[in-house]
Amino acid sequence: MTKTRITIVGAGITGTMTALSLQRRGCQVTLIDKWEPGHARAASSDYNRVIRAISGRDAFYTRWARESRQRWLELQAQAGENLMYECGALILATAGHCDWEDATSQTFDEVGVPYYRFTPADVQSRFQQFKTDDIAYALFEPEAGLLMAHRCVLAGIKLFKQAGGVVTRGAVTTDTSERPMLDGKPLEADVIIMATGAWMADQFPRTIKPISQIVGINVLYTSTPEGSDTYDMAKMPCWIDHGQGSFGIPSSEGSGVKAAVVIPDKIDLDNEARLVKKEMINRTEAYVRRRLPGLAGQKVVDSKFNQIILTPDTHFVLDWHPEHNNVLFAGGCSGHLFKHAPVFGDFAAGVALREYGTADRFKIGPRRKLSPRESPSGR
Ligand SMILES: Cc1cc2nc3c(=O)[nH]c(=O)nc-3n(C[C@H](O)[C@H](O)[C@H](O)COP(=O)(O)OP(=O)(O)OC[C@H]3O[C@@H](n4cnc5c(N)ncnc54)[C@H](O)[C@@H]3O)c2cc1C
Repeated sequence: MTKTRITIVGAGITGTMTALSLQRRGCQVTLIDKWEPGHARAASSDYNRVIRAISGRDAFYTRWARESRQRWLELQAQAGENLMYECGALILATAGHCDWEDATSQTFDEVGVPYYRFTPADVQSRFQQFKTDDIAYALFEPEAGLLMAHRCVLAGIKLFKQAGGVVTRGAVTTDTSERPMLDGKPLEADVIIMATGAWMADQFPRTIKPISQIVGINVLYTSTPEGSDTYDMAKMPCWIDHGQGSFGIPSSEGSGVKAAVVIPDKIDLDNEARLVKKEMINRTEAYVRRRLPGLAGQKVVDSKFNQIILTPDTHFVLDWHPEHNNVLFAGGCSGHLFKHAPVFGDFAAGVALREYGTADRFKIGPRRKLSPRESPSGR
């Protein structure tokens, strides 16, 4: 029997996990990227990403996150590398800004996600790192944690190659009908999966651009105090601080404490140096001083400037091109796809093989903006 030939464009975490799933199902998969997998411009390239189940009232992503946690643990065992650390995640519900957090407890109860509800005093006694004067309460998810993002991509590539998959370098373009092209010729395969992250919007100006916003996000890593392990992942959880538009990750494998204040910034994906702007540094440093006062005066030791592709409702995109019926879009990350990638990749594989249709929420359109109460990402 001839194998189904699949070409996947984009070797970020979405393309890699989809490729791994399809290759393991017996397809002949080629994964193409214009740069080396793990490269610094990809959204999947930073040291770490948060994995947590919290998705407001959205039980779908809550379940997917739980299933993905299991899958990451399996991938970790298969790869023989540390991909995930369960340091927990603390969700700080800022007084007067708790819609998303309020909706979450009910969803956690429904899905069966272990969690604690902490008063500000509980947080102070367990995690002295955080200042909690503006917090109404906090949720603590002990089985959440962090994924070593760059390593996850490379481990996925390793497992994909071990399963017989092929990784190549190439810059795929599209013609005026949005057909994917390589070296001036149409890409030939039974199924072509476009997993090109934020690049997808410009590649598909009629289909994807109208439901996309490309947002640059600045991330700073702050040194832990000399001689202290208080801010290491063994003693500190990841945190989500929606009231302050922020989130962060404790120092993992010496990274320093990561903090991102989500201030949407313009980004030229291919032509801009990936340097954090001074204004963003100032605002993030001010946040760190306020929320983690013990880090006041500590130096920034690293930084990243990456991007997300944001859909109006923050749901992912997994749908066929309206005219090219062998072209499938996989992505639309909206800032929360990394953790879900193993399950998303499996689901995308089934859609690609036409075992079932995609989910309504992943269809290209129409899309509408959701309120923080409805939104899975709380945005
Ligand atoms: C600062 C920040 C923090 C985040 N935090 C979290 C988090 O805590 N938890 C979480 O779950 N998610 C988080 N996310 C989101 C997560 O990182 C993304 O959802 C995920 O990495 C998207 O992966 P991707 O494979 O779709 O895209 P990418 O990783 O960007 O990969 C796309 C790939 O396509 C390739 N490509 C593009 N165009 C072409 C072309 N023409 N030809 C060939 N190849 C091409 C690119 O080179 C790239 O390698 C965060 C994102 C950012 C930016």
